[in-house]
Amino acid sequence: MNTPIDSRKYATLDEDAVRNAGISWDEATQGMTAPDPNLGANFVTRRYKDIVFSVKRKIWRQDDEGMESANAEYKKKRPAVLVKGGNKCVFCGFRSKHTEVHHCNDNHADNRDENLEIADPLCHGTQHIGQVGSQRQGIFINLEGIPQAEVNHLQRTIAVVLEMGSEQEKSDARALLQHLASRGELIASEWGSANPSDFANALLRLHDEDLDKRVSAFAGMALLYRPVRFMEYIGQWIEESYKSLPLKMWGQIYERARAAR
Ligand SMILES: [Zn+2]
Repeated sequence: MNTPIDSRKYATLDEDAVRNAGISWDEATQGMTAPDPNLGANFVTRRYKDIVFSVKRKIWRQDDEGMESANAEYKKKRPAVLVKGGNKCVFCGFRSKHTEVHHCNDNHADNRDENLEIADPLCHGTQHIGQVGSQRQGIFINLEGIPQAEVNHLQRTIAVVLEMGSEQEKSDARALLQHLASRGELIASEWGSANPSDFANALLRLHDEDLDKRVSAFAGMALLYRPVRFMEYIGQWIEESYKSLPLKMWGQIYERARAAR
């Protein structure tokens, strides 16, 4: 169990697994790029940003003149931001036509280039937990050791399975979702609530200088969405991503990852 992870084995598609899944190697690797020749030249910058749960803090009044012109500016800049970043989420790396543009510092009037970044709908929701909670589309669960970006990949896959999996796969996905949801009780008993709205209100009460303290408070917590939240995107995900890596391969990918641990 304590054998070190062989990163090559972990990160590379296994030819036997691909053959067993009944698709060709070319199909399985379609769209994958060759390793960057400069890989490892600079390990100072991380590939993806950490997700720290957040809430829109700077509230502007609807009738505020400044907000109106800021919104117009945002709308104008948005398409170029998406093109420049290749529609790829800065938090989890997922690429889709349905990515969104997020204001890094939570100030929606600040449209400087460095404040605009791409986020897919799941990662974007983690930055607006009050909105997720008030729409009753998610809860906090206790999930030690799995980063939210990975949880988001998992939730996306569960949603896709519920849409297009076999009966057995759907039933497995429902069981997994129920198990994850049941871990909300641990948060409710520890904090008195698992509703993201309550955590959002607590964040809004924090002074700016104390905001970083939320990092340790949120440790071991994950945001679990109700799949209904991204109903409208599922078809697009199936079309874009789950075609080149079909569901029937996922079990084998999981087995391989587990064996490598
Ligand atoms: Zn993401």
